[in-house]
Amino acid sequence: MKALDELTFDNRFARLGDAFSTHVLPDPLDAPRLVVASNAAMALLDLDPAVAETPVFAELFGGHKLWAEAEPRAMVYSGHQFGGYTPQLGDGRGLLLGEVYNQAGEHWDLHLKGAGMTPYSRMGDGRAVLRSSIREFLASEALHALGIPSSRALCVIGSDTPVWREKQERGAMVLRLAHSHIRFGHFEYFYYTKKPEQQAELAEHVLNLHYPECREQPEPYLAMFREIVERNAEMIAKWQAYGFCHGVMNTDNMSILGITFDFGPFAFLDDFDAHFICNHSDHEGRYSFSNQVPIGQWNLSALAQALTPFISVDALKEALGLYLPLYQAHYLDLMRRRLGLTTAEDDDQPLVERLLKLMQNSGVDYTLFFRRLGDESAALAVARLRDDFVDLAGFDAWADQYKARVARDGDYSEAQRRERMHAVNPLYILRNYLAQNAIAAAESGDYSEVRRLHEALSKPFEEQPGMEQYAQRPPDWGKHLEISCSS
Ligand code: AMP
Ligand code: MG
Repeated sequence: MKALDELTFDNRFARLGDAFSTHVLPDPLDAPRLVVASNAAMALLDLDPAVAETPVFAELFGGHKLWAEAEPRAMVYSGHQFGGYTPQLGDGRGLLLGEVYNQAGEHWDLHLKGAGMTPYSRMGDGRAVLRSSIREFLASEALHALGIPSSRALCVIGSDTPVWREKQERGAMVLRLAHSHIRFGHFEYFYYTKKPEQQAELAEHVLNLHYPECREQPEPYLAMFREIVERNAEMIAKWQAYGFCHGVMNTDNMSILGITFDFGPFAFLDDFDAHFICNHSDHEGRYSFSNQVPIGQWNLSALAQALTPFISVDALKEALGLYLPLYQAHYLDLMRRRLGLTTAEDDDQPLVERLLKLMQNSGVDYTLFFRRLGDESAALAVARLRDDFVDLAGFDAWADQYKARVARDGDYSEAQRRERMHAVNPLYILRNYLAQNAIAAAESGDYSEVRRLHEALSKPFEEQPGMEQYAQRPPDWGKHLEISCSS
């Protein structure tokens, strides 16, 4: 276990120089205080969880202090936002404080979001509010606990610093961890600004640091792009299988590592709704729940375009062609497991599709349905769940097919079925209304609710005593909350 001053830095991105990022110091928050910290994320840095409670922790992650070896940098990138190209973006309110490596030799970027103005702030104030910082913190750690690749969050620091959004709010900072903060938009920036040398440097950096195994391949850059395609297919399959809606899948928010990144007005589905739009400024539903699948491919095509100096167009097209079949395979595999199936049959895809259609028409809770399906034998579970459906005849027909399919799948006990299904079907997910309750308490100075919710979400598959309130359907007021984009 390390103390805070024992972190070891190796700032590899900063060494790329001023064409890639600008030195900026964090702008400290007034009266910084710990809102919540993740012990699991602390462990990634070998930090003793107790240090989170010390005043110096809030000072470091509230922008008052820096390690001598930290080299805070604002990164430059660009990206396609809602389909249109924005030639220059960058860390407008976040800073890469430095890269730390742990005892296992893993490097982690320390990225402080809400750290003040930078050359890339455009019209913004460089700040993040408490509400959005809590949401990012909870989502990062919840996704990770669900087994969905994501950036991580070490802590949220609250403050007295006033920040103006639709109303006056308080500034906060969230310390984000990831092996890299390089986005698709980094490659687009150097491609569209016609800086081939820097672009080559960036590509070498990503290849050497993050895809070293691709070096062994005859065409290392192509191998790397293929791997990025594969990781995106798998990540988005997991989003779809667990009902996660990212909300702002612009290419500047897509990580080069294939992890969930840069949270905006995201949501987990309550009732199943393929057309759900979580971002209320997304009027056309470009980033609706079901559109995430084709948008994943669109974003990869945008990256492919930026990689044309390194890889032939034919090879890029071929690699892009891997996305959909891989997505479908991962998705179906996960959905089979969610249904408790251990074997594969040709008709499993329509079995899943028919179920989702029924759930959509009846507004069935997406998470609780699968959890309850695993509570008991298939026959007993479907008999109990039947009441949630409006189209009873439709559900009965599906249930008959499902029971027959389960019978063909294998001969296992109810206990085995429950154990297997509960290990993939969470009881606790980050419902918008739960986040909202925790935020309301935190805004009035009570952080206990955020901490408890974080605790429940860190073991989503395990029933935890005293956490029953997090395993309920939302009340009516909590179903269609509008989450502001002004974060
Ligand atoms: P986002 O929608 O949060 O991914 O941000 C898109 C771009 O706007 C990025 O370049 C951000 O750094 C920048 N940005 C967002 N909010 C602010 C803010 N409050 N101040 C400065 N820049 C911001
Ligand atoms: Mg962003």
